[in-house]
Amino acid sequence: MVRISETENKSKNRQYKTDSDFDPQYFKDIERKTNIWSCIQCGTCTASCESGRWTALKTRSIIRRLVLGDLSVLEDPDIWLCTTCYQCYERCPRDVRPTDVIIELRNYATKLGNISPNHRAVVGYLKNTGHAVPINDAIKKQRVELGLEELPPTAYKYKDEKDDDLKNIAKNLFDLVPEKKKIKEEDK
Ligand code: SF4
Repeated sequence: MVRISETENKSKNRQYKTDSDFDPQYFKDIERKTNIWSCIQCGTCTASCESGRWTALKTRSIIRRLVLGDLSVLEDPDIWLCTTCYQCYERCPRDVRPTDVIIELRNYATKLGNISPNHRAVVGYLKNTGHAVPINDAIKKQRVELGLEELPPTAYKYKDEKDDDLKNIAKNLFDLVPEKKKIKEEDK
């Protein structure tokens, strides 16, 4: 039986596949924040996945592709199907921390412009309204019917004031890469 220390020693000699567009620091970050090399492909993460019961998300497969240096994971829409419920994180027998792996993959995919349309929309809402789920006309109407002000006292309510918080949010929130940057075909 292979002991963990032996596995860890072997991992020091392994390298992720990279190209000129690829920042290896990202995978170094994954190694630092998770235990990606300890994965034994037991499938507990996939079996525990709340999203995977209903969607194409296969966490075990994503971990495997990443370990093999398969950069197509950065263009895979499935990484955006994770709800970050952390069930796999808690149940993984090797403390791989799959949820954190997926979050790091999303961070890097976003840098390449591969953020999912829905997540892109949420960033836009945050910048424009200060809310990830903006208040719509129906909710405004309900608030008034309940005797509340139409808008709650959040940044959006004060958007027309000088030095308002919403402008500061928009200014300080990161800008998304507008167009998807393709990974070179030959590197897939
Ligand atoms: Fe790998 Fe952990 Fe998933 Fe098992 S539960 S396949 S060890 S990441």
